[in-house]
Amino acid sequence: MGRRSSRLAGLVLGGLLGLAAIGWWMNRNRLVAVVREPPAVMGTTCTLIAIVPAHQASATDTAFTNAERSLRLIESRMSSWIDASEISRFNRAAADCRISLSESTYHVFEKAKEANDATGGAFDVTCRPLIELWRSADESDVMPTESDIRSARDRSNWSHIQLGETAAAKSTKTARVDLGGIAKGYAIDQVVEVFKANGIESGLVDIGGDQRFWGTSVEGRQHEVAIRNPLGDEESAIFEFRVWDCAVCTSGDYARSFEVGDQRFSHIIDPQTGRPVVGVASVTVFASDALTADIWATALSVKGTQGLKELPKGIDALMLVRRKGAASAGFEALASSGLADRIIGPLPDGVEVSKPD
Ligand code: ADP
Ligand code: MG
Repeated sequence: MGRRSSRLAGLVLGGLLGLAAIGWWMNRNRLVAVVREPPAVMGTTCTLIAIVPAHQASATDTAFTNAERSLRLIESRMSSWIDASEISRFNRAAADCRISLSESTYHVFEKAKEANDATGGAFDVTCRPLIELWRSADESDVMPTESDIRSARDRSNWSHIQLGETAAAKSTKTARVDLGGIAKGYAIDQVVEVFKANGIESGLVDIGGDQRFWGTSVEGRQHEVAIRNPLGDEESAIFEFRVWDCAVCTSGDYARSFEVGDQRFSHIIDPQTGRPVVGVASVTVFASDALTADIWATALSVKGTQGLKELPKGIDALMLVRRKGAASAGFEALASSGLADRIIGPLPDGVEVSKPD
């Protein structure tokens, strides 16, 4: 071989090696999604996704173990379905009996109290007596009387609850709380913090359809969120949005509604009337953290379309409201102004997005 051709062969070989090295490097750093689905978290489904470079995929175990441990701990403290939880002990306690609170339960209590003020009373974790009243109406199939509702409403009030950093007490035995509208959001945020502390730079935490995204999608781009059609089946998406770091929580009357006689009711109670809310088929809230998004999804279900105008800065919402008449008549979609820019793709026939006036 002449000197020129051997130099050429050297260049080609060098180029090929270089390409192989780039290929190897790209493959090693290609993003992959590692998915875990811990069973029965807070009585619902849970999906945890860590998005990491391929070479780190096998090193995510500790992050997942810590994330799941954090979830179970929160549930064991805040669930009203677990007899030994701090919340169940508080709910059973006699008047003036101090129940010790962990730092996390105290934090959630405090946030719930702030949310009660911020939402003009629409979000109220003290409305457990009303929730129980309607739950027993569901079981007995008998509507509660006006006086039942009034009495449960009087028992549902923050004025009966004294909150201290290490303990809570109540002035009447019958006062009770229900963290069902806030605990999932809190848990999602905690798990995201656990993942970040374990070096996971991107991912998704989903508990029962409430979600928080951080970092990038597996394609290295924004995450895409699909909002389901409340009149369709579970798979039917109606809107898609692009989000970066963002929590997306939905409260819908289709998921956990119940019937008394031939009337269908939402599991969300209007603390002012003492009755289940009517009218709003689903509310999806976008906020930087899941606690805030969870709170406002419930609060807007109570406040209705008027609430869209009262949203604090940094919070956006999409509200689907049933049209008057039969369910098949469809619904109207109302979005807060910040959301309109984020919708991807064409809207289905008959659906228009309007901003609140
Ligand atoms: P989901 O549990 O379907 O995500 P929400 O986040 O809206 O729905 O939470 C609903 C739960 O919150 C109810 O099951 C009940 O435990 C509780 N809840 C009902 N009404 C209210 C209210 N007005 N304020 C705070 N919590 C409520
Ligand atoms: Mg919720």
